[in-house]
Amino acid sequence: MGIPVVFIRTNGCPVKCSFCDTADSWSKNVPKWVKEETPDQVVAEAIKCWHEPQTQGLYRMSPWAVITGGEPAIQKDLEKVVDRLHDFGFKVAIETSGYADVTRRLDWVAVSPKPKLHYKMCIPIDQINELKYVVTEDFDESVITEEIRNEMKGKIWLQPDGNNIPEMVKKCYDIAMRDPRLRCGIQMHKIYEVK
Ligand code: SF4
Repeated sequence: MGIPVVFIRTNGCPVKCSFCDTADSWSKNVPKWVKEETPDQVVAEAIKCWHEPQTQGLYRMSPWAVITGGEPAIQKDLEKVVDRLHDFGFKVAIETSGYADVTRRLDWVAVSPKPKLHYKMCIPIDQINELKYVVTEDFDESVITEEIRNEMKGKIWLQPDGNNIPEMVKKCYDIAMRDPRLRCGIQMHKIYEVK
């Protein structure tokens, strides 16, 4: 959180959470923000996005790309995109529900499990760099088991649903105050209105 990255948002997700903020991507009608691109085109855009601000001298660091969704695990060319990004010196992170094990070759794996939905978590815990739970009105913290809390302590984020609405921010805070192994996060790009 708080470092510059290129954000690659993919279309479509089979999980279908009620609180999804990209629910338009489930539709058979491809939403306006989606462009169909080959892996080479995706990577060319990522390079452009990274280097434009660099030429203005805004920051100097290794390039990072975050592949998110929807659910990036369903993209058939995911591995090709990851490999091409690596070829151009990017480190690559993924944000996934854990719907499929796509962790090979990735430099950072953020998993946001959806415990109430009945799909099998396919990513072993030792492959996960951080966990993120979306805190909704009916979120039950007991889904974060003692085993998970111990294994992933300090790497478990609670993130408020609903565009950071104050009630859910407070709920995250209250849960985290009961257990120092948990952290509170927010969707910073929404606060900054980054599209
Ligand atoms: Fe939306 Fe993520 Fe749920 Fe998929 S897993 S429906 S992208 S919130």
